[in-house]
Amino acid sequence: MITSKTSFLALIGNPVNHSLSPIMQNAAIKYLGLDLVYLAFPCKDKDFTATINALKKINCRGLNITIPYKERVFNLCNKITPNANKIKAINTLRLDVNNEWNGTNTDIAGFIYPLNKFNLINKKGTILGSGGAARAAIQGLLELNLAEINVISRNEESLKKIKSDFSEDQQINTVMHTEKITSELIGDADLIVNSTPVGMSRSSKTEDSLPFGQKIWESLKSKTIIYDLIYNPRPTDLLKYGINKGCITIDGLEMLVAQGAQSLSYWTNGLEVPTEIMKNALKNHI
Ligand code: NAP
Repeated sequence: MITSKTSFLALIGNPVNHSLSPIMQNAAIKYLGLDLVYLAFPCKDKDFTATINALKKINCRGLNITIPYKERVFNLCNKITPNANKIKAINTLRLDVNNEWNGTNTDIAGFIYPLNKFNLINKKGTILGSGGAARAAIQGLLELNLAEINVISRNEESLKKIKSDFSEDQQINTVMHTEKITSELIGDADLIVNSTPVGMSRSSKTEDSLPFGQKIWESLKSKTIIYDLIYNPRPTDLLKYGINKGCITIDGLEMLVAQGAQSLSYWTNGLEVPTEIMKNALKNHI
């Protein structure tokens, strides 16, 4: 029951109305019997700083930060964890003893979670796309000790930024997409991560349903694990294609749940969070 003592957690971004975080977080909060509620607030650019600062002063236990503010929030934090610093993105805040925001990134642990059951040491990974999710994936694959991480994109600028932000990590190659090179890297990969939005439900029927088009996927081998970060639809056309080729496939739902569980655990000082409850709430909702 919500009472005058109930405190809250919030997602701040713009837009937020597509977010599934309230569904899974409130399911876990209810299961754990916590006196908390999780809400999503859209926030305009001009109001962002004032909003984050004001939330320190009322009964707010923690925040998730989403697009387009994951980088902008750096200036509003007192302390930032090394992993968030490395990928230049904060997605979770909590208050410290001085009532200042501390920031971390739970997307990396969320990304790694479904890969923990595989031995990827010294294997070759290929990441498609070079946006925010790709950065979490790169750091995740570094932590899993892959020997080679190829990041393929159509966006030269964001590839350059990745090259410079991860300049100390020799395993990373940034690659501008061409049909020939992408096809070769797909044929050679032990793990492929799709971090482009290609294949999401709202894509129109005329768009490609496989990232970078059908042709490059002909080189895909059955030994390759395909990890699509998209969680709706389940499975995506890419995962269906992989299943037909005999590949092991992973969809984005586990990452979504795992990063949410990490955030809730961070806000509650390490409480064990019921991931199955969160996952079931999402499955029933999607
Ligand atoms: P983002 O920052 O916008 O990055 C998207 C990347 O995909 C960019 O490199 C973009 O290139 C590229 N791209 C877009 N359309 C493309 C196309 N038609 N062909 C080739 N490349 C294309 O987005 P994000 O935050 O990284 O999210 C990416 C995807 O991951 C989304 O589907 C999102 O839902 C999913 N995701 C899932 C989770 C989870 O928990 N499962 C978490 C985060 C993200 P340009 O810069 O050239 O447009």
